[in-house]
Amino acid sequence: MELDKMDENDWKYHGEGNKSLVVSHLQVCIHINSKQAFRHILNIVDYSKYVMKPLLGEKYVHSGEVVKLPLDFVRQLSLKVQQERPELRCDKVMDTFSGCGLCLPNLTQLPLHHLRDHRPPICVEIKPKCGFLPFSRHITKECKRKVCRFCMHQHYKAKVKPDFFKRMYVALKNLLEEPQNNLKIFKGGELIFSCKDDAKQQPELNDLIQHLRPYFSHSNGLYNGHQPGKAILNEFIQVICSALLSGGDSNRSGEPRKVHLSESRPHCEASPFPRDLLRNGNHGLPKDSVLAKILQVQMLDNLDIEGIYPLYKRVEQYLEEFPKERNRLQIDGPYNESFMDKVKNCPTEDDGSVEYAVGKVHQYRVAMTAKDCSVMITFAPCEEDEEQQLKLEKPRFTYSISILDLDPKPYEGIPHQYKLDTKIVNYYLRSTQAPP
Ligand code: ATP
Ligand code: MG
Ligand code: MG
Repeated sequence: MELDKMDENDWKYHGEGNKSLVVSHLQVCIHINSKQAFRHILNIVDYSKYVMKPLLGEKYVHSGEVVKLPLDFVRQLSLKVQQERPELRCDKVMDTFSGCGLCLPNLTQLPLHHLRDHRPPICVEIKPKCGFLPFSRHITKECKRKVCRFCMHQHYKAKVKPDFFKRMYVALKNLLEEPQNNLKIFKGGELIFSCKDDAKQQPELNDLIQHLRPYFSHSNGLYNGHQPGKAILNEFIQVICSALLSGGDSNRSGEPRKVHLSESRPHCEASPFPRDLLRNGNHGLPKDSVLAKILQVQMLDNLDIEGIYPLYKRVEQYLEEFPKERNRLQIDGPYNESFMDKVKNCPTEDDGSVEYAVGKVHQYRVAMTAKDCSVMITFAPCEEDEEQQLKLEKPRFTYSISILDLDPKPYEGIPHQYKLDTKIVNYYLRSTQAPP
């Protein structure tokens, strides 16, 4: 990519979230935000590099780099992509003044050497959400120990839907039937399946099956031709599950591992799939798998927002008295090794110090990032004898797994999180408990 010869016609609209608009060009993506100061993007890169990457694993995290873009290119690009943006998002404007962007590998593609096959890579993007029920002694409402936050939040939004960590296979199937904004599928970098931001209609499963058919052609004959579409979806889900349960790209044995769901874990009572919610380390996910890694980081939130909020107030009170301490405590970064030390070496018991409070608040923010990330599983048919492959009976796939969307969550957001939690829980209690 030659930054001085950028032509907007080589780039296309790829997607967007709440914060960034993403454009893609073969093997790279550029994120352009509405808040685009150089320092702000550098913070995102540092946070990914020094905090999330060591916690989640080198192989899953790509931190990217800040790039300086020609202003003319950004202006032309913003005009070009405007009509492709979903209406719902158009109140957000792209920053066209700073010329800064975040450049990342295009994770919907595989590195070029894998592209010997005529069938382009398929990429599945999943938002795993929170994978455990809170156990903190600071919790005041018993229902939080029994019903997961996702189910309660869905209830709050008046739409009940299961989340991902629950019996993965069933959950993936449900996601395919009702993806909300937690599932996207790309083929050769093009979005082919998602829940449209602005349309109420459900995405077409039949269209997806047509897209997938060439990748699973052998399964046409497998099920006596009874439900070939269903057979294809089954195999597709199996490939995703196997990739999610393997140790990323380092699993060379080629054997897909199995999930062992322990019987005695506490489970979410609002979820249609009991017996499978994760509470402690004994969650049955293979240790190196991407889901185990994410769960482990999510569980840094071991006090719950109800335990964190008083510690946040302790920090605030301290800063009021000693405002200069804000830098030393790295409240707003920089996100470097020393920040990571504070996350890792926070005392386990509350000794009443501001150091303890800051350590727990930092841990909470890191856990929040892990509850909001996306997992990208990209796979393509592979030839025999290739390394890094996921071997099912037949066919075989080369695959790569990455974790995306690892921005720091703002310190100032904690009071809002506390209020939102109270609202969601109270609404859940009011609406599910029948009046006396
Ligand atoms: P959110 O609202 O989820 O916080 P965000 O504004 O932080 O979103 P991202 O999630 O980082 O933005 O990006 C938006 C979308 O763009 C992603 O869901 C994904 O589909 C796509 N995307 C982002 N980065 C890449 C990448 N490096 N490769 C491929 N696709 C990407
Ligand atoms: Mg984000
Ligand atoms: Mg996102």
